[in-house]
Amino acid sequence: SYFRFSKALVMLGLTFIVFTQARSQPWSLLQAPRDLALKLIRDPVTLSLASTDFGHIVHDNPFAIYAPSSISDISLLINFSNSLPIPFTIAPRGQAHSVNGQAMTSDGVVVNMTELNAFRNGAGIVVVSDGTASASYADVGGEQIWIDVLHATLKSGLTPLSWTDYLFLSVGGTLSNAGISGQTFRFGPQISNVHELDVVTGKGDLVTCSAEKNSELFYAVLGGLGQFGIITRARIALGPAPTRVKWVRLLYNDFSAFSGDQEHLISLNGRNESNAADYIEGFLMLNQPPLDLSFFPAPDQPRITSLVTQYGIIYVIELVKYYDNSTQEHVDEDVALLVEGLKFVPTFMFEKDVSYEEFLNRVHADELFLRSQGLWDIPHPWLNLFVPGSRISDFDIGVFKGIILTQNITAGLVIVYPMNRSKWNDKMSAVTPNEDVFYIVSFLHSSGFDKVEEFQVQNQQILGFCEDSGIGIKQYLPQNKTRKEWMEQFGSKWKIFQQRKDQFDPNRILSPGQGIFN
Ligand code: FAD
Repeated sequence: SYFRFSKALVMLGLTFIVFTQARSQPWSLLQAPRDLALKLIRDPVTLSLASTDFGHIVHDNPFAIYAPSSISDISLLINFSNSLPIPFTIAPRGQAHSVNGQAMTSDGVVVNMTELNAFRNGAGIVVVSDGTASASYADVGGEQIWIDVLHATLKSGLTPLSWTDYLFLSVGGTLSNAGISGQTFRFGPQISNVHELDVVTGKGDLVTCSAEKNSELFYAVLGGLGQFGIITRARIALGPAPTRVKWVRLLYNDFSAFSGDQEHLISLNGRNESNAADYIEGFLMLNQPPLDLSFFPAPDQPRITSLVTQYGIIYVIELVKYYDNSTQEHVDEDVALLVEGLKFVPTFMFEKDVSYEEFLNRVHADELFLRSQGLWDIPHPWLNLFVPGSRISDFDIGVFKGIILTQNITAGLVIVYPMNRSKWNDKMSAVTPNEDVFYIVSFLHSSGFDKVEEFQVQNQQILGFCEDSGIGIKQYLPQNKTRKEWMEQFGSKWKIFQQRKDQFDPNRILSPGQGIFN
């Protein structure tokens, strides 16, 4: 409103004085094109919202928040920055579900991508289908969130094939990382399920790119940590949507039996292979509070608790088989075939039957609960690692048993599951270990504001153990700090990553919160 804007201008005048004194090469809003200046917000409440993220650990105050009302507004902002003797940094902010300030800037402009919703006017997700699922796709704004993509595609009986565990993440945000979940072993990460992108590069050009057209930009942006351009549209592959799922958990007291079975299950991974599972994940149950038993039938909970107490650590495979009316008849048989011969603790197999949407959106139920307890907006000193398959047993001994179990400070989930490297495209910026099978291991800690350091020390110990033991991990959602760490992260891709930066964002203005070039 006019009132809000006038108020913002007054505040802006006041804070601008401070800002100009603080910077050696200041830029003035008076230099900015009028259309652009009108969309830069500087009220303290908005600034403070953009100075934090899901991690609640890093806090960076931007100079302003930008509210684009069109795609060309994004070009306008980037062009303005590049026109200055010292360009300012620009951080697109999807849902800010990063944990280490990746969508922040300490002195530049945060682009509030969700503002594009008004511009889309309800057309942010367009499902295109000629009746054949294989040729169907959705054109989705980079600012859209996956739960809305799910709802829009289900209306046509279709669905994206590859997911993240949590769906209130933006399409641009997950495609800048990879987007992984229990479907990745079969369909690849979300970045392997994109046909085409619209990107505003760090030079301000709006470019449509794909594997055939402007492919260098396409591959750069996928898994590119926001370094090369701002994704404004993604064409996402779709397939037929199931209606329900059989959701199974198998409990193991032996790590090699657990990982051996996981790797067996992900070896059945053909896209059209009806014998394959549709989702494989895994996690640890530790003899530490809180022990979440809500999935399991109440009468079985005491014996599960006893098992965890007896062994201290129990490994759980989570396996899902989708079905619909046409496959309902044999789905139980399909699940029985999948678990046949697996080495879980006899009788410790548990199953639920839920709708497809309830399964995909399962973390939202946890979110609502945690919010109600005041436990959502708290620090999250997370650590996500890709571990080569050949070293996962060493990781179990050194980290799960050697650090996590002995230190007894875990509060949160530890997720462990393997993926097939063949489903990733090495031309993309995303990096993985150089082995056919590698695991994601996610330490999803929640912490009191006074306990963050304890978790950070533990995370460093885990990284130190991997380094000392020569386990060639790669960080997922990386939090590297030094140039050396980034070079190690990208390994043989570092050179091309730098070249692409020079090509698409030569002034190094985009996504400074990743800390790669800034
Ligand atoms: P933001 O945090 O807003 O941005 C992330 C980075 O991308 C920043 O550098 C930002 O500048 C850049 N960026 C944002 N939008 C764009 C755009 N349109 N174009 C270019 N760059 C952009 N990840 C998984 O892969 N699998 C999971 O199962 C999973 N589960 C999660 C569960 C929870 C509860 C949370 C909080 C996170 C989870 N994540 C998971 C991590 C998540 O995918 C990343 O944090 C992702 O970046 C979040 O998207 P976002 O929209 O919040 O991105």
